[in-house]
Amino acid sequence: MAVLLLLALCGVALLPADLRRPVADAVVLVAAVLAAVGVARAGRRTCRVGRGWRLVALAIALGVAATVAAEVVSPHPGGADPARTAASVLPHLVGACAVLSLLGRTRLRAGGVRLLVESTLFCTAAFVLAQVLVVGPLVRELSPGPASRWALEASCLAATLLLGSGLTFVAAAGHRRRTTGATTLAGLGALAVSSCLGLVGSAGAFGPVSLTGRALTVVGLALLCLAAAGDPGERPHQGPAAPDATADAAGEGRLVLGITLAGQLLPHAVMLTAAVSLLASSFLVGTPTPAALVAVALGLLLTAVHRAVVVGEEVRFAGRLARSEAWFRNLVRASSDAVLVLDDDRVVTWAAPALADPAEAAGRPLLGRPVTDRVHPQDVETVRAWLADGDHRGPGGLCSFRLPAADGSWRAWEAGVTDLRSDPSVGALVLHCRDVTVRLHAEDQLRSLAYADPVTRLPNRAAHVMALTEELAAAGDQPAVSLLLFEVEGLDDARENMGRHVVDLALVEVGRRLRATVRAEDLVARVGAEVFAVLAHGEGDEPDRVAARCLTVVEQPVVTELGLVDLSAAVGLVPLVAGLTVDTVQDRAELAVRAAGLAGPGQVQRYVPTLGAARDRRERLRADLVGARARGELTLVWQPVVDLTAQRVTGVEALVRWQHPEFGELEPEEFIPLAERAGLVGDLQRWVFAEAMTAAAALPEHGVPLQLGVNVSPVHVASGTLVRDVAGALRASGFPAQRLVVELTGSAAPVEGAAVAADHAALRLMGVHLALDDFGAGSSSLVQLTGTPVDVVKLDRGLLARVDKDRQARALCASVVGIGRDLGIDVVAVGIETPSQLTALRAMGCAYAQGFLLSRPLTLPALVALLDGDGGHLWPGQVGRVGTA
Ligand code: C2E
Ligand code: MG
Repeated sequence: MAVLLLLALCGVALLPADLRRPVADAVVLVAAVLAAVGVARAGRRTCRVGRGWRLVALAIALGVAATVAAEVVSPHPGGADPARTAASVLPHLVGACAVLSLLGRTRLRAGGVRLLVESTLFCTAAFVLAQVLVVGPLVRELSPGPASRWALEASCLAATLLLGSGLTFVAAAGHRRRTTGATTLAGLGALAVSSCLGLVGSAGAFGPVSLTGRALTVVGLALLCLAAAGDPGERPHQGPAAPDATADAAGEGRLVLGITLAGQLLPHAVMLTAAVSLLASSFLVGTPTPAALVAVALGLLLTAVHRAVVVGEEVRFAGRLARSEAWFRNLVRASSDAVLVLDDDRVVTWAAPALADPAEAAGRPLLGRPVTDRVHPQDVETVRAWLADGDHRGPGGLCSFRLPAADGSWRAWEAGVTDLRSDPSVGALVLHCRDVTVRLHAEDQLRSLAYADPVTRLPNRAAHVMALTEELAAAGDQPAVSLLLFEVEGLDDARENMGRHVVDLALVEVGRRLRATVRAEDLVARVGAEVFAVLAHGEGDEPDRVAARCLTVVEQPVVTELGLVDLSAAVGLVPLVAGLTVDTVQDRAELAVRAAGLAGPGQVQRYVPTLGAARDRRERLRADLVGARARGELTLVWQPVVDLTAQRVTGVEALVRWQHPEFGELEPEEFIPLAERAGLVGDLQRWVFAEAMTAAAALPEHGVPLQLGVNVSPVHVASGTLVRDVAGALRASGFPAQRLVVELTGSAAPVEGAAVAADHAALRLMGVHLALDDFGAGSSSLVQLTGTPVDVVKLDRGLLARVDKDRQARALCASVVGIGRDLGIDVVAVGIETPSQLTALRAMGCAYAQGFLLSRPLTLPALVALLDGDGGHLWPGQVGRVGTA
């Protein structure tokens, strides 16, 4: 629109002379009306400053009204007509106020004295210029009367005040509104100049000066419209935190004042121009106007005042800067985060005292030296690479290195880097360092704890696994390293007899002996409570020899202040070959060591694939055991117990069998432990009780009520349901409790555990007999006989196997028989296979026997046949009486 109007103004020059002025004025009026509407609408959009822009619109409207009014009052232009001259005063004054109101009071106050002085100086300088360039020539040319003269001066003053408000806006508006301020100032400048040109042009006919003045009016109005439309307004209000926002605005305003060229230079530049013009006009055209002289004097005064204000501010700023610098310096000094500043060549240009002082004391000053000259030699490459990496990507962007400490040792630092080389005020790499010596030390200790066994100080399982992983990674097809797994036996006895402390001593000693026996490169580790592992180097049967040597040293008694500790070990041996994993090797070693343990103390077992097959079979059986009873795969066989005096069957022992669909008939010694571990033994046992009692209740008696022996697992005893299960089975079967013998194996029988003892007592109260089974095997002792409330003792078949040859076995059996006789306990010899064993037992006075010599375990029909055959008489040599299962 402005361009169109300007083109229209250009077209005015082509019109006849008498039409030019009215048409030009009409164009300007149209421009002014459009500008007033545009500025008012823009002002409504920006709510906070909207009032200011609406005031600006009002000023423009006033200008239109004043021009129209002057035209009405004084229709013929020419000369210094006071009405026409004064028409612009009110609009200019309102305009000045409107522009100032765009800023708001806070901003104006933030500008302080300095803003006031600069604006006044600018106005004064502009006024002098107007005096020199406009008023002076007009006065000289037209010699106006007093009214016209005053109107001229007032118009001149109003124009300069309008211009001054523009400068104030630019200086105090802040960064956000800098463009708006500049546009406004330019617009106001155009309007002020056009106003002066209007005055000059009014003196003569409508010529280029008048046309230029009109054009500048259109330009000025257009610029004001642009400023109003583009005004972003003040920063949004922060609500209740207004004081902060005010402080922020004030601070920013001062900053803007400090740096704005317009604020600093423009008043002085205009003043200088005005003074030069004044001097020149004095020389060329004569004495300047009095107002110009007064204004110049005021301008000089204001320049001096401005200087004083600026100096005061500079002193204040310098003091504040010094204080803030000292504050930051002290902060950096006091901070535990030490700072290193490096230039482009990685030379230290500044170092915090926390870093510089110790290095200085150690004779290795940091300042002026490349940092890589001062870090620990082992860290040089790390630091160099880290600093060379543009992104400084260490773990987490950090780098660890060591710097000299005051005592000549090294302290560990962890540093992050800020690259400020592109920041001209710093131009350096800034390293923020943190002393991590204590932390690293603590981490080292934790690491050593994590990989060391606290008792023996040998590497622990984690360390062993790590070493094993490395060995496997390097392993080839021919094994050069083997894993020896030592399961130490005898520690439980030592703990029971001598206490935990002795066990610890023994473990330390075993570890020491193993370490002393193997090669330096072999790794000895404690990988379990009673388990040691050796990664032994050597090919062929070398590892076997190492294992044998180790076994020898382990089996040598350990002397402690509380006595000797006798230990043995089972050793599993697994050669490491390529393709094996840590898990596989450990699995194999455990299989081998278990097999070695089963083979007896002091055995070495190399891993062979059949060990894995045994384990697979166990796992298969464990899985198949679930539901075996429901599928009818479990059966009972019955082995007679013979009274040696009467030579007839007085009891039977029920023995469970499992008819596995694939593996055939399985012995209980194979599947009972599996059932115990799988938590299935209780179920199985209840079935045995029910089945055995129901069948036994229906057996022929022939005058002698048969005793029924049923074996009970220690795990079932420990479960606490034994009494309930027995009572339930007795009730269901109707079998008399007095004929039931519950056979407890040696490990279930010891009277430890109040609950177990109470169960035993409860069973006896019910009338059930208790038998101590497998006596003489494992850890059974004669003390058990006197301490356990049992009615029957069953001698273990392993003991009886030697009774006819071994004096010790015979003596032990005789003792048991003697004690049994004295205590009223029946003694049953189990596992009689030969007549000489039977003879030996009879000679001792043993009352009962059970064994293959007399009868193997029988099926139920076979047992019934036996009992029916000869009234239950049974004796070796009575042909056809010994049945088979
Ligand atoms: P046990 O209680 O000592 O049972 C006697 C074992 O000795 C039976 O083996 C029997 O067949 C065997 N035996 C008897 N006389 C001779 C002999 O002259 N020579 C030889 N070599 N062996 C003889 P079986 O049936 O294999 O039972 C083994 C063990 O399994 C039993 O030892 C018992 O502890 C356990 N057991 C058997 N049935 C059950 C049961 O139903 N429940 C529980 N918890 N354990 C049972
Ligand atoms: Mg038994």
